[in-house]
Amino acid sequence: MAKMTDEEIVEKIQQWQTCPFVHELTCGKCDGILIPKISEHLTPSVYLKCPKCSYTQTHVPDIVFHINFEAIEKLLDALKGEAG
Ligand SMILES: [Zn+2]
Repeated sequence: MAKMTDEEIVEKIQQWQTCPFVHELTCGKCDGILIPKISEHLTPSVYLKCPKCSYTQTHVPDIVFHINFEAIEKLLDALKGEAG
């Protein structure tokens, strides 16, 4: 698999955070929904930040990068088509 850029990693995390079929990555302290950010100082440079309490998490679960969001979107579109 080709190495993902920071922007691609952030996009993947955002897709996860808005996907209706998975539980969002949440803050370990206050249950706020974590937001992906890019740091110039950290390695790896993408980390997660809580908008409520400023808690930061550097570990992003591998599963986020293994889910096929394109397939899920196609499925959602198909379901919408049936409903509408
Ligand atoms: Zn928090």
